[in-house]
Amino acid sequence: MLVLKINEIYFSVQGESTHAGRPCIFVRLTECHLRCTYCDTEYAFYEGDDLAMDSILEKIKSFPCKLVEITGGEPLLQSGVNVLMQKLLDEGYEVLLETSGSLPINDVPKPVRKIVDFKTPSSGMMKNNLYSIVNDLQTWDELKFVIGSRADFDWSVEKVKELNLLRWTVLFSPIWKEVPPADLAAWVLETGLPIRFQVQLHKFLWPEAEKGV
Ligand code: SF4
Repeated sequence: MLVLKINEIYFSVQGESTHAGRPCIFVRLTECHLRCTYCDTEYAFYEGDDLAMDSILEKIKSFPCKLVEITGGEPLLQSGVNVLMQKLLDEGYEVLLETSGSLPINDVPKPVRKIVDFKTPSSGMMKNNLYSIVNDLQTWDELKFVIGSRADFDWSVEKVKELNLLRWTVLFSPIWKEVPPADLAAWVLETGLPIRFQVQLHKFLWPEAEKGV
């Protein structure tokens, strides 16, 4: 029986990416091999329960929604997650995957909408970026850069140009309470590039909540 270690499954409003604002079911998998300085889901490093695939699907189906985000931690550390995503697609769900940009994505079912979070210098995890995975992106996938400083911003703009990433949607997102959102918005406009500015909507809606949003 296929089992995944799951930290939490909940129904909320999608806070990020081009899907921000949409009702969404979140499936957070336990475990991450990175330790980003700004991580806001450290509780997902170890905490979780081993759940059988049927139990996970049953929980997902209990919510009135056909959009699911698979997240973590780093969900791709558990290979069974690809089976879960395929089952969800087969059952008519739209599936988003949030991944750190440090692991291969070639086994992810193609229709899944991947949001690849390449790590900026202030994360401390930049050396783990696996840039070759851009070759496995689909047109509907998105790339995210979490910006913690002006230096992060400048580095990210250079990386976007170097890797020709504007073939996809590119998202720049300020670290909560580190970079004023208006500053980042202004920097993006200065570039003249079609980079998509975003904020973590859930942090504005529920600033005190640490889990379940
Ligand atoms: S990849 Fe995500 S879950 Fe892992 S340490 Fe970084 S921010 Fe936290």
